[in-house]
Amino acid sequence: MEEISNFIKTIMKNDLESGKAKKIITRFPPEPNAYLHIGHARALVTNFELAKEFGGYTNLRFDDTNPAKEDAEFVDAIIKDIEWLGYEPADVFFGSDYFEKTYQLALGLIERGLAYVDDLSQEEIREYRGTLNEPGKESPYRNRSVAENLQLFTEMKDGKYEEGSRVLRAKIDMAHPNINMRDPVLYRILYIHHHRQGDKWCIFPMYDFAHPIQDAIEGITHSLCSLEYDNHRILYDWVVDNCFGPHDYPQQIEFGRLNITNTIMSKRYLKELVQKGKVEDFDDPRMPTLVGLRRRGYTPEAIKKFILASGLSRINSTVEGSMLEHFLREDLKLKTKRLMAVVNPLKVVIDNYEEGQVEFLEAANNVENADLGTRKMAFSKYLYIDKDDFVLTKPDKHYKRLALGLEVRLYHAYFIKANSVEYNAHGEVSVVHCTYDPLTKSNTGFNARKPNGTIHFVEATTAKKALFNLFEPLILDDDETKNFLDRINPKSWIQVEGVIENADEPFNEGDKFQFIRDGYYAVDKVSRPEQLVFNRITSLKSGK
Ligand code: ATP
Ligand code: MG
Repeated sequence: MEEISNFIKTIMKNDLESGKAKKIITRFPPEPNAYLHIGHARALVTNFELAKEFGGYTNLRFDDTNPAKEDAEFVDAIIKDIEWLGYEPADVFFGSDYFEKTYQLALGLIERGLAYVDDLSQEEIREYRGTLNEPGKESPYRNRSVAENLQLFTEMKDGKYEEGSRVLRAKIDMAHPNINMRDPVLYRILYIHHHRQGDKWCIFPMYDFAHPIQDAIEGITHSLCSLEYDNHRILYDWVVDNCFGPHDYPQQIEFGRLNITNTIMSKRYLKELVQKGKVEDFDDPRMPTLVGLRRRGYTPEAIKKFILASGLSRINSTVEGSMLEHFLREDLKLKTKRLMAVVNPLKVVIDNYEEGQVEFLEAANNVENADLGTRKMAFSKYLYIDKDDFVLTKPDKHYKRLALGLEVRLYHAYFIKANSVEYNAHGEVSVVHCTYDPLTKSNTGFNARKPNGTIHFVEATTAKKALFNLFEPLILDDDETKNFLDRINPKSWIQVEGVIENADEPFNEGDKFQFIRDGYYAVDKVSRPEQLVFNRITSLKSGK
């Protein structure tokens, strides 16, 4: 991967040079409650790349301390996504693995007079908390004895109390200028089945308590998180200090979130799109989920380059989606075979070519990468060209395609000239009659005439029918005041039937190609040998 330059890298470098850090250890901590999206990729790539760059390592830790929202299905999906991006966690942990240790640490806080059981209701706790301008009020239960707190907390754990009746709070400072420090809740009671712990626990630690403890146990040095945790850092440090003693590490560092134009990124919204049937599923090729991008044909290399090129700073940023497409084109350009496909077919008959004859022309699979070899490509009297490559009369001097009376080069084949057309019942051109010039065969050095451009084609008698999925952004960016469900682009997924040359390819799911003069395509998961289906990953040029 190329050089990443960012403020976190600078911090790590300085920490290693000063001897403060011996090794860089990071973690990626997704909640297993949804599929990862391209926004998560920023956190993922940043954690893994930085640790790797400094010879350290990264753990994958499922942040599953909140039992209400978790699902084992997502655990497997997240592991697969990380692997797909080419990263291997040093270890895979679950936040819930540390429940016992976390509980013991909470008991320790109580023993040292740093935590208490509070009987105020959730609403009262909110009221007592004060505001940005006003200090909070101390709970009447704040000064319970250590013995009483130990007993109550143990009983909370043993299931003696109802949900919402009691919480464990840190005893810090109800007048603290940072509201997060006004006796934050550390544990609450929840009678919910946990996906790994079953019914063993009915008290669950809050994120702000659990996360720093997990980082400390794993020896994480740099705990990277997004900007919204900025004003929780002070509490993070308090938890580590008071559970493990004064510390250099773990150290929380916040970075800006990644947004992409025309892209809804939040998990909640992505779930809504699926639940409301606005998209097929989480792997719909229009979704910004990693499963969706993968199905569409996006490559891990392009995603990584995009993430690194979008930079990293302490402000949230919105990046143009076209930048990701740029990296896709760059990645696929030399890797993919360039085949002939016609998405919007128009019949061509070569009147002076012999009926019943099919010849096979040698064609480079990628003119810029000889390693991809050559293939035999059919040519005969019957061809398809793209409807967009023909007009009756040349509209202006910039028009470089076929028109009546004009000659064009068929890529890898011959020059053809259009002489007449047939119309269908709707008055549309249905067949173009042409003549070809045998002297102009590709690779013979013929250069006596300059044709009016070069177009692609597919030989008709050997062609395979195929379905092409063409995509536009799922969400229109026109009116930000409207709900995103009302901004769904009706043309975001259009399927057309066309043809593809009979190439000797298995067309397995995920195989990628360039279809000449059109774009990059991937074989969709629903594709079958008898019914090929391709997803357009991106067009060849931006804005097409
Ligand atoms: P969402 O807001 O989409 O629900 P989240 O932050 O709740 O996401 P987590 O599963 O907690 O999702 O995220 C795992 C990691 O990915 C966290 O460190 C989080 O900060 C980071 N992350 C999530 N979305 C983005 C984003 N758009 N840009 C950068 N980092 C992100
Ligand atoms: Mg989160």
